[in-house]
Order: sequence, then structure tokens, then C-alpha cells
Amino acid sequence: MITREKCQLKDDEDLLFSYKSQFSIPNKTIYLDGNSLGALPQKSADFAHEIIEKEWGKGLINSWNTENWWELPVYLGNKIAKIIGADINETVVTDTTSINLFKTIASALKIQEINNQYRKVIIVEKDSFPTDIYMLQGFIDLVGKNYEIDFINSPGELEEKLNHYTALVILSHVNYRTGYLYDMNSITNKIKENGALVIWDLCHSVGALPINLKEADADFAVGCTYKYLNGGPGSPAFLWVNPKYHNLVTQPLSGWWGHAKPFDMTSDYEPASGIRRYLSGTQPIISMKLIECGLDIFLKTDMEKIRAKSISLTELFISLMDQECKNLGCKLITPREIKYRGSHVSYYHPNAYGIIQELISKGIIGDYREPRVMRFGITPLYLSHIDIWDAVQNIKLILKDGSWNKEKYKIRNAVT
Ligand SMILES: *Cc1c(COP(=O)(O)O)cnc(C)c1O
Repeated sequence: MITREKCQLKDDEDLLFSYKSQFSIPNKTIYLDGNSLGALPQKSADFAHEIIEKEWGKGLINSWNTENWWELPVYLGNKIAKIIGADINETVVTDTTSINLFKTIASALKIQEINNQYRKVIIVEKDSFPTDIYMLQGFIDLVGKNYEIDFINSPGELEEKLNHYTALVILSHVNYRTGYLYDMNSITNKIKENGALVIWDLCHSVGALPINLKEADADFAVGCTYKYLNGGPGSPAFLWVNPKYHNLVTQPLSGWWGHAKPFDMTSDYEPASGIRRYLSGTQPIISMKLIECGLDIFLKTDMEKIRAKSISLTELFISLMDQECKNLGCKLITPREIKYRGSHVSYYHPNAYGIIQELISKGIIGDYREPRVMRFGITPLYLSHIDIWDAVQNIKLILKDGSWNKEKYKIRNAVT
């Protein structure tokens, strides 16, 4: 039997407990949506002021040089490298995950065309975050060349689908809905043995668990900075390319920021050597600068500790739901086995939308995903075991008293 006191004891032993004070979270709020939009780091507001007033207001155009604006995509990429197991000058922060998917899809398929022109099939998960599929469809629509999409319906189908026609596999390290976690090393290995390339989408794993792209010898990776990394709404994404491909191919969004000598202003595109060729145009500097506030918090701890706490909290969440909400209609869709679970927990419930809305009205913020899924993001740096206890008590209350069943919850918000 788990009690509130036992949760308190776990918090007393929690090595990461003090990190909560580095975030600004509204009073009486239990934030279970940091996997969708990370919380605000304490330092971000002052830093935003400084960037606007000092760097932009006073520095004006000089700040491109004096404030490191020009180098920012690689500078921040090198900080992200430390939490995704990459070396320096292999990662850039730029654009959106969607756009970075387009660039990496194009590069990967160009690499395959050099040696293996018969490989025309791209494997992607039916249950991917939709933009991964949409960007692939957009790319194929543009280039044709007989490319074909082969959907897998579950992780188990990957191996049977891989064959000598497979050019590329696009996988989410952690699934945005179910929280299913792939074993990156073994899956990358299987894909490579088959002669295909892989793009890992790290949106729901970066900042949530240890990642080692070099150890896995992955090919490409993309990911968000506004989820677990707390970069702020719409903060630019990142892109990593295995250095063995850096100078082998170019990407098609060949804007001037990826040029070898952008300020020569020549009329021919000459790609920069290395990872800079994955840049396209001018970056949103204010939004991009703020990424550092969140990143620096991560760089002060280590991902093994974060993972250990994430497991402790997700285990607690699932055990408490088993204990407190039995027979109330919730069906766990997240793997129970730890090694297959990322850092969020999702339940199917026929009345999921109303339940989430009622929880939000009580300050317990999770989110709703189709079809009828309640999703609870577990961010180890600003959640405690007591928070999980209190959240589950409220879920139980709402399920029992029927307060989810309100007229106003029958109309969906634009963003769920
Ligand atoms: C959040 C998320 C994205 C978002 O892409 P944007 O282009 O930043 O909107 C992409 N892929 C996955 C798996 C995600 O979870």
C-alpha cells in the first residue's frame, strides 16, 4: 500500500529535489505537460530582457559579432551534444523539427542514391508524431523518383519489414502518445546490418533520458528544445548528422547561412564544410538565445540521475493508478516494462477529454491526445513524488464524482 507519507519519504531522499527552485511554476499547479511545453527557467525572464535591451537595443547590428549571434547554432549545438552523446561540431540548433526532418530525409536519400540506387522504400511508424509522416510525404511529392512509404503498425514489425529495398527508417526514440521507448543501440544496429539508414526523432527523449548517438553509431537525429529542455514556446529545434556524412552530401534548403562564405555574396552556392551546411537562413536569435537557460540546468546534473528519478516517478504514477483508480475505466497504454518506457504515462479512457479539462481547472495540467488518451508528462527536474500522489488523488476524485461530464467540455479547444 502506497501512502502520501511514503511519497514524502522518497522526496526527502531525492537528490534532484532542489532543482525545482530553478523553474518558475505557478502556485498550486502540478505541471504534467513539460513533455509538450517545458516550464520557464527562473533565469529566462531576466535574460530575455538583457538580450532585448542590451544586445539588440544597445548593441544593434554589432551584436552579430560581439554577442556571438552568428555562432549561436553551433555554440548551442555543442551544448546539446553533451546530452545526446555527440562530439563537438556535429549538431546545430536551427529551424523546426519538421524542417530538420526534411533536410535529413533529403540527405539520407542522397547518400543511398550514391551507392544503392535500388533502395526506394522508407519505413516510418503509422503511430509517429504526424509531422514526421507529413514531411516525408511532402518530400516524396516533390522529388518522385519512385520512393515509397512502408508503414509499420508496431515496433515489432520493423524487423520483418527491413529488406534490401529499405533506404531509410524514421523512428521516434520515444513515441509521443504511448511513451514506448526504442533500444537505440540494438535497433540502429539492425537497420545498419540491413544496409538502411536511420533518422532518430528525439523530441520526446532529449532531456528525459540518456542518449548516446555516437555509441549507437546512428546516422541522423532531430529533436525539439521546447519540450523537456525548457527552451520556450517554439524555440528552434536541433539536428545532428554523423560526421562521416558531413561533406558527402548537401541538403536542399541551401540558404546563405549554410554557405561556405556567406558574406562573399557570390551567385553560386558552395556548401560550408561540416555541420554548418545544414543551416538555411537567419535564425530567431531571441528565442534561440533563451535555450541556453534550460540547457545549463541540465549540464549541471547528469542524465543518469534524471532517468533514475523519471523511472521512480513513472513507476509511482502507474502503481498509484493501479491502487487508487482500479475499475474506473482507465487503461494504461504505456509499457509497464521500464526499459520500454520513456518519461510520460498515458491512459485510454472513454471520457479522456473531459477528465483532462477538469484536471486542468484544478491546476493539474496534463494533456489530451487522440484517440481518447490522457497523457501525463513526467519531468524529473520540477516534479516530486508528492506531486504524483496529489495528481492521482485528483484523477480518482474526478472519475468518481463525474465532474468531467460538463457541457463546456463537449467543445474541443483549438489546442488540446
Ligand atoms: C513535438 C514533436 C515534433 C514537433 O515538430 P515541430 O516542427 O517543432 O512542430 C516533431 N516530432 C515529434 C516526435 C514530436 O514529439
